[in-house]
Amino acid sequence: MARRPPIVVIMGSVDHGKTTLLDYIRKTNVAAKETGGITQSVGAYEIEHPSASSGQVQKITFIDTPGHEAFAKMKARGAKIADIAVLVVAADDGVQPQTKEAIKIINESETPFVIAINKIDRVPDTSKVKNELMQAGVLLEGYGGNISSQPVSAKTGEGVNDLLDLILLAADMEHLDCDPSHLGKGFVLETTLDSRRGPLATVIVTDGTIRCGDFIRTDQAFGKIKILENFLGKTIREATASSPVRVLGFETLPKVGEDFIAGPKLEPAISIKASPVNSGGPKTAAPEGQETIRLILKADAFGSLEALSEIVRNLPKKSPSTSSGQDQKIEIIQEAVGNIGDGDVKLAISTKAAIVGFKTSASKAAETLARAHGVRIVQSEIVYELLKVIEDTLESLHKKVIKGKLEILAVFSKKGTQQVIGGKVTEGAIVNNAVLEIHRRIDIIGSGKVLNLQQKKQDAKTVGAGNECGLLFDTETEIKIGDVLILRQ
Ligand code: GDP
Repeated sequence: MARRPPIVVIMGSVDHGKTTLLDYIRKTNVAAKETGGITQSVGAYEIEHPSASSGQVQKITFIDTPGHEAFAKMKARGAKIADIAVLVVAADDGVQPQTKEAIKIINESETPFVIAINKIDRVPDTSKVKNELMQAGVLLEGYGGNISSQPVSAKTGEGVNDLLDLILLAADMEHLDCDPSHLGKGFVLETTLDSRRGPLATVIVTDGTIRCGDFIRTDQAFGKIKILENFLGKTIREATASSPVRVLGFETLPKVGEDFIAGPKLEPAISIKASPVNSGGPKTAAPEGQETIRLILKADAFGSLEALSEIVRNLPKKSPSTSSGQDQKIEIIQEAVGNIGDGDVKLAISTKAAIVGFKTSASKAAETLARAHGVRIVQSEIVYELLKVIEDTLESLHKKVIKGKLEILAVFSKKGTQQVIGGKVTEGAIVNNAVLEIHRRIDIIGSGKVLNLQQKKQDAKTVGAGNECGLLFDTETEIKIGDVLILRQ
């Protein structure tokens, strides 16, 4: 057994200084002659820092994710994969919604964390931020809790060494062990498809040793390590726990976040998991009672695509306008890296899908084709903006489908299949002689036909939203108070 260096992730609200802090730490702790060799970021770096308690030089691995705050998945994964999180809060801006979100992710993943109160060159007084943190449920040291905080300036470097001490102290409490004699294990941090070199993956080793010549396997990918590089791009023969390394040799790209195992005698995974893409397939009819919204996702890189996909998959399953429980199923027809081309639009036409692009552009041909066929293309560089547009799109698509909604307030009589019922129209209008779906909570339990419609005891052709009405309704299903009847287009 041996101790391994802590893997650290920096979290916090946008513009609070995460990148500046990561840059400062890298600049001051990785020898200049070595940093000169960095041609391409691999998503993580290692530093050496003398421990304040033991005086020994200790390593720390920082996940150097360009802080795209909205990437819930990246953050969630970042917090999960890290041994320690550093929550950056700017002294001049205080606790923001994204700070609270970060706290939630840290807490849910049970990641130990320390606080860096940044920009103290601008606002030296940290008491306001501390109060806000306490209010956000972070129990700080000195205030009855045990979460350490350190005022820093990522700009001048003040307090950064103390922050590194705090990180090592927090890591000491975690007893991070590894066994270098084991097979190499870890997770995939970043992937790129290099046009010359093929699939490249940055992985972080969390236990054992991985060696050049080893086989390497994830759920989705397999390969033989041809070249192993450290975070500086230097070729190495082997790497041990907590090191970020770049692996060349995967036959196909592994997925970001997947676990890997590496060793001299590995077989490819017996069952490659079914790709999540195309869940159900475009031609599969949606189960009754579900709104199916079809999307084609495009993004500039695998990491962004994965994040986008995760965000879309995690969109609320219920549309706000379907409080009665109408399910909204999002079907991802295809997800791919690259700009939006006419092929995507053709696929969208044939599958009645909308196209969502994150950090992409659409070709002229694609735009023209989309306009001609009414295909909706939603694009943005900002994930929050994109989310808003997707949600609005879903909402408007949904509204198109439902023409009227009636909440049942009274059931008067039942004779055979005919029932006299009363209710309030809450959306659109209910029309005489129409066929309506009967919904109970999240299920569709049947359908029936309006034989007679009345408003204020007078026969009516339609009754609009906000009004009460009475119906003679023909159905096999026994309607109850609280059921919702829906008229569709
Ligand atoms: P991120 O979005 O959290 O990665 O934030 P950045 O690192 O991009 O920083 C946002 C802005 O704050 C930039 O203009 C930085 O120069 C500035 N900044 C970051 N840290 C400090 C600091 O300690 N002091 C001051 N005065 N400005 C800072």
